[in-house]
Amino acid sequence: MIAMKKYFDEALETMPPDERQRYYSEKIKEIVHYAYENSPFIKRHLDGAGIEVDAINGPEDLKKIPVIKKEAVRDAHRLSPPFGDVIAVQPEQLQRIYMSPGPIYDPESKGELRLKESKALFGAGLRPHDRVMVTFSYHLVPAGLLFDKALRGFGATVIPAGVGNTELQVGLMRDLNVTGYIGTATFLLNLINKAEELKCPFGQDILLKSAVLTGEKVPKSLRETFEKKYGIKTGQLYGTAEIGVFAYECSEQSGMHVCEEVFVEIVDPKTGCNVTPGEVGEIVVTFFDNTLPLIRFGTGDLSYMQVEPCPCGRTSVRLGEIVGRVGDSFKVRGMFVHEPQVKEVLTKVNGISTGVLIVTRKNQRDELTVKVELDDKSCNKDEVRQILEKGFRDACRLKIDQIEFFPLGTIGTEEKTLVDDRTWD
Ligand SMILES: [Zn+2]
Repeated sequence: MIAMKKYFDEALETMPPDERQRYYSEKIKEIVHYAYENSPFIKRHLDGAGIEVDAINGPEDLKKIPVIKKEAVRDAHRLSPPFGDVIAVQPEQLQRIYMSPGPIYDPESKGELRLKESKALFGAGLRPHDRVMVTFSYHLVPAGLLFDKALRGFGATVIPAGVGNTELQVGLMRDLNVTGYIGTATFLLNLINKAEELKCPFGQDILLKSAVLTGEKVPKSLRETFEKKYGIKTGQLYGTAEIGVFAYECSEQSGMHVCEEVFVEIVDPKTGCNVTPGEVGEIVVTFFDNTLPLIRFGTGDLSYMQVEPCPCGRTSVRLGEIVGRVGDSFKVRGMFVHEPQVKEVLTKVNGISTGVLIVTRKNQRDELTVKVELDDKSCNKDEVRQILEKGFRDACRLKIDQIEFFPLGTIGTEEKTLVDDRTWD
């Protein structure tokens, strides 16, 4: 009998510390040289900081390079569309082009394997014999196709369900004996509730074993409900639109193992200097990728590093939970909302003097309330409501739950236009 594989790539995942150090030194040296020669953006960044590529020979040297801000990448996209000059391959080498909020166009090269995503999904508990439903969108954004490819990378069977259609998806799960799920925790809860309504409950008619959750913060209580009440093992992933998934929880559920396809640092967002393990700072990533080589890319997400050995046997460092965002953006229902976007939507509407978008948490769901001050009493509230709803849908891809109107001078102009009032318990 063949023993069940425990790792996706045992040699890499369990490298002893000194071997891991050598591995990273080699990879860092290689990608810095490659990026300097092939990505005008990286060349400009290194030249601007007076960095000699030959002086970068490993993790210690990497610290000399200033962190690349997310905004700098976004500006590069704007100045030389569609990919900015960050991309390091010729356009004809691409097999797909995706769109992420921003908007940012994500290039995918021909032959792209999605190894780190395969590793993450395997590490989070999915196996070749699993029949997995992918509930992320399969068009425009990368998520659906990316996970699809990653699952097929280790032989799992995929059901490309996409978003929405809860009733149909519940039927699929029952009829096809689905054992694995990839999506947001909120959508999984929707499916569980719908299944109950349709009298084919989880735990009886639907025997889901593993759920890989990503795209939004998962409250502890909700996770416990999945695990204890329905017997679904859960694993969380972490990634960004630019890089894809690069960290995952193993069955120990104690931090997210960092994939070997990236090098991760935690830095003080103000100075760019590394902080000590356990201390909170910005996640900064160096991505060993020939299409989009990024060197010390600041994700804007705040977390901390766990360096104690993990009982699973993997020797990579682990990221703790994501504790927040540097600056004024945060994720709402799995989508990033930036304060400037909110401002733009509000200022486009005639009759509004000021306003604010407030995010709260109700029944395990992000709830969005827009409060606006009207400077003209005679303006048509229904019309303003429609324009705001459409504005937020177009700009942030979010549906607003409530719009409340206030008389002039009651909200105040000093306030922020985007407020996170959620509590996670
Ligand atoms: Zn582990």
